[in-house]
Amino acid sequence: MAAPAGHTAHVDANGVLIRGPESCGTRQEARPGAEDAAFIANPATPVRTIYLNKNGGTYTIKSGNVTDASTNIASTIAAGDGSPHANAVIPPIDAVFNWPYIVTCVKKHYKPYNVSITETEPTSGNYVEAVVGGTGSSTGWSASSGILGVASADNFCGVTEKGIAFSFATNHIGITNQDDELCATIAHEVGHLLALEHEVADADTMSYVPFATAHAKSFTTVDAHCGTDSQTQTNCMCQTTASGQMTNSDKRLTQYIGVRPVETTPPTLNVDSPGDDNTLPPSFNVVAEATDDTAMDQVAVLLNGTTMASSTSPAGNTYTVALSKIPLGSYTLEVQAIDLSGNITKRDIPVTIALGATGESCLNGPDCSGNVCASNVDGSQFCTQTCDDANTCPGGFACTVVGAQNLCTPDGGGCCAVSTGGDSRAAMLLALGVGAVLFRRRRHR
Ligand SMILES: [Zn+2]
Repeated sequence: MAAPAGHTAHVDANGVLIRGPESCGTRQEARPGAEDAAFIANPATPVRTIYLNKNGGTYTIKSGNVTDASTNIASTIAAGDGSPHANAVIPPIDAVFNWPYIVTCVKKHYKPYNVSITETEPTSGNYVEAVVGGTGSSTGWSASSGILGVASADNFCGVTEKGIAFSFATNHIGITNQDDELCATIAHEVGHLLALEHEVADADTMSYVPFATAHAKSFTTVDAHCGTDSQTQTNCMCQTTASGQMTNSDKRLTQYIGVRPVETTPPTLNVDSPGDDNTLPPSFNVVAEATDDTAMDQVAVLLNGTTMASSTSPAGNTYTVALSKIPLGSYTLEVQAIDLSGNITKRDIPVTIALGATGESCLNGPDCSGNVCASNVDGSQFCTQTCDDANTCPGGFACTVVGAQNLCTPDGGGCCAVSTGGDSRAAMLLALGVGAVLFRRRRHR
């Protein structure tokens, strides 16, 4: 799209528009009274909750300062055409994005401040929502606008306590460093809900300068002119400095949101897997439950003191950290729960990495001495092997025709208990790398 005169569009190496004059649709317009001097002087407010929503939803755009994340209502300041919209559907985020990476990145932006970031929608209290998906077409934005995001910031210059930030993920596809850029858009639009306006500093999340140009994005600690980049300065709308003509995103977040309280209470940690059997295949998941009295950061898994993998995206309180292709041998596996104040709770577990014998659990064929990892009907997976008259199965297993080969399958129906009527058919899904097949299991009595 053409940039209006007086504005600077940013394009990537391929000439693709990345952050132009329409990249952020949030109007830089102070709401009268938003900057309450008493409020600024008293930042001791409770922790704010930011709900990151990658699943989309149906939103209503209405006139007036009516934004409410709990009822999916935004105001017309978030609409591309400035008009109300009923039943505007924001689709889920496109599968091309690395959502766990983006969540980690957004959390990093807000780590210094007194916020709690969750992927579970709160059921009570105020929270701001960042919904991430689509192109904005359902809320009146032109498909060709290149719009990256907009904030329904009813209380611009102050905190919109129930605000909704829209980040149009689909319009980020193909942008250089698209995961980083989408993270920057989410942090930027949420920033508008938390008293921030545009500022020109390249590295600041509130500028238009793309991640690929700035190489890093954060809420920076320096005073900067207002505007979208160094060539596009504007008067400031919100009061930060005595002159009123500079802003400072870090300072404003500190004023309006507060810094994250320092606390020394370590997280709780329960390691569910590995359990008592500490002989593991080369690929395995560590599953742990961790909570913190303020805010969790991550669960990390170390082998002999080296961090191998981590997760910042729990399902409820359960973190799953996948390790793969660990060389055979003995290790000290350490699971660490780390909170946002840096307190660590850890468990050391001695483990031996070995190829699985038939019947032992596995994630894939190379985990097994027999090079076959099969799935039971209950979802569990076990190592098995091919067999014939010369290569018999170990005790407890019988050689069974499975598709085009003979495999050792458990005796006694312990694994494949699905049957209907008098039919002894059992469904055993075989994970052989070529998809699942159904087979008829030999009847054992
Ligand atoms: Zn903006």
